Amino acid sequence: MAEIWQQTLNWQPTVQEQAQFQRLYELILEGNRQLNLTRITDPQEFWEKHLWDSLRGIAPLLSADFSPTSPALIDIGTGAGFPGIPVTITVPNCTITLLDSTRKKITFLDNILTELALTNAKTLVGRAEEIGHHPQHRLAYDIALIRAVGAASVCAEYTLPLLKQGGLAIIYRGNWTEDETTALQNAVKQLGGVIESIEQFTTPLSHSVRHCVYLRKVATTPVQFPRAIGVPTQKPL
Ligand code: SAM
Repeated sequence: MAEIWQQTLNWQPTVQEQAQFQRLYELILEGNRQLNLTRITDPQEFWEKHLWDSLRGIAPLLSADFSPTSPALIDIGTGAGFPGIPVTITVPNCTITLLDSTRKKITFLDNILTELALTNAKTLVGRAEEIGHHPQHRLAYDIALIRAVGAASVCAEYTLPLLKQGGLAIIYRGNWTEDETTALQNAVKQLGGVIESIEQFTTPLSHSVRHCVYLRKVATTPVQFPRAIGVPTQKPL
């Protein structure tokens, strides 16, 4: 896979990072026996849909000249650790918080962090709707990642309150339509953000089309956001 990393992301994992990816795969297969972590267990599919896809979204951070010295990241609804764990492995100068509302998944991730000797990440059990109002977390992050957690406007409501002014939210999506852009524009305006870019790309093995939506926080997020638990999904902005 070294060539594909190089061709698609202009980057290659070190020997240590490759070993960590392999161990992550084994631990997820083991964890799957007790927890419903992921249906993606084929090694190539795991590589493409979990490892490659996670890193495609943060490709600028893999570049050697990425400037913030130690960016603070949060992965909201991280589940079995995606995109957060591959990012933790490959961007060692970042600090990352892995947030999920399911305690069992977070306990599993605590074990992963120990097994892979990852000291730059910590886990957090909670709902994005509550964490977004917590003084320790609101306005605390440079980058917020979110994949497969809900509609784009829900993702915007979960991510933008957590970002510092000027911070970046990265929403990982499959298909994307113009109508979604219009709906998202309306939501991010209310939340103090703008859509900075929407990137479409094709995955290297199965050639599926995916998108990453990049939101920039340009103003204060009004204090009423995020709304109470469940409201963002029931009544999307
Ligand atoms: N991001 C992972 C991925 O792409 O493989 C997991 C996606 S999984 C479909 C969605 C995860 O988001 C679940 O683990 C769920 O517990 C978590 N989740 C859903 N709503 C949440 C919320 N409001 N706050 C925190 N976590 C949430």
